[in-house]
Amino acid sequence: MQYENKLEFALQMDQLDPIAKIRDEFSIPKQGNGEDEIYLCGNSLGLQPKLSAEYVKRELDQWANLGVKGHFSGDFPWMPYHEFLSEGFADLVGAKKDEVVAMNTLTANLHFMMVSFYQPTKTRYKILMEDHAFPSDHYAVESQVKFHGFNPEDAVLFIKPRNGEDAIRDEDVLKLIEDEGDSIALIMLPGVQYYTGQVFDMKSITRVGHEKGCKVGFDLAHATGNVLMSLHDWQVDFACWCTYKYLNSGPGSVAGCFVHQNHHKNESLPRFAGWWGHDKESRFKMENNFKPIASAEAWQVSNPPVLSLAAIRGSLDTIKKAGGIKILREKAIKLSGFLRFLIEDELANDVDILTPRDLNSCGSQLSLAIKLKTGDSPERGKEIFDSIEEAGVTADWRYPNVIRVAPVAQYNSFQDVFNFKEILLSAIRKNS
Ligand SMILES: *Cc1c(COP(=O)(O)O)cnc(C)c1O
Repeated sequence: MQYENKLEFALQMDQLDPIAKIRDEFSIPKQGNGEDEIYLCGNSLGLQPKLSAEYVKRELDQWANLGVKGHFSGDFPWMPYHEFLSEGFADLVGAKKDEVVAMNTLTANLHFMMVSFYQPTKTRYKILMEDHAFPSDHYAVESQVKFHGFNPEDAVLFIKPRNGEDAIRDEDVLKLIEDEGDSIALIMLPGVQYYTGQVFDMKSITRVGHEKGCKVGFDLAHATGNVLMSLHDWQVDFACWCTYKYLNSGPGSVAGCFVHQNHHKNESLPRFAGWWGHDKESRFKMENNFKPIASAEAWQVSNPPVLSLAAIRGSLDTIKKAGGIKILREKAIKLSGFLRFLIEDELANDVDILTPRDLNSCGSQLSLAIKLKTGDSPERGKEIFDSIEEAGVTADWRYPNVIRVAPVAQYNSFQDVFNFKEILLSAIRKNS
């Protein structure tokens, strides 16, 4: 793709964009002057699809008008409401419909999955994770290891980037698994790393992990709705994701979970069970023998919050309107490619891009490290960030010097990306 550092070029790209109109399906926050914000924070909280608002309102009305009968009435009864999300989730992660389920929240699902898939023995007891994992993942893994009576110092194995590098090399992950795999019970890595935006080679990690006898699960918080995946074909054991980032389903919304068909009939797997995972035919007989549904639904514990599921359904229908995840990914590659081009063209002396350049290794997010020169205040990065926010940009700040920006295919335009570059440039000039 040949980019040009000109506003006219950005406007032309928007004109040629076959899914530019999908932006109108979202509520875009306004700046003080009444103009749309340049919202580049979809990696943290995605914007509200208008369909989500409509669907949530619809369920509130059902409740008002029908009371308990809403469980069984109308086109979208609450009893099976989570099932209306299966197809959309399956398309996003490359799964069979019965391998995915909407339930709980992300960290809770990591715990439930580890109950089933972290089965340490005396010799195979370690969990491989990534050194710079999201804090919640560290806490979850450490607490699971301790729960089984192991010492995290010994039982949690970390993969990290080489000295002086930002991303983790695929070959280093695979080598570590080959070298240490005999002692690893579970590999739990991100699909997309939250800080750098790096995409992990989930397919190879799963293959090599299985060759060494490890279970393999992924945290897809930053991957679902962002990059293409084939969890079923890759034979991934389990995966978990939240729905409020690239899935635009509202703050704290219900999460998603994948369990490979290989495990659906294995009744010997330990699990923390609840009535919603019990066989649907006999659920309401209220007998006390747990009979798991032969699908990912067996891992459900409670009946889910339907208002939140309605918001997710609105988001999934919006993705469908756009033509699906493949179309979105194509646009996202162009958007983030344009952003990278603009930064390298004009800001190479001021900004390092931490996100890998290879298209297979990056999603919609670029992590920009503000370069600090000798004599600069350590707060310079934060001051630049504050200036761009004042100028109408919403992005994400991480100490000491990183601005994460996520131009997302559904509601960001090439013009957003160009305007962001102009604003960043002037903030850097102002603060130098
Ligand atoms: C966003 C995120 C979380 C948040 O966890 P919740 O349980 O949804 O609060 C956890 N892990 C990763 C990797 C994340 O990106």
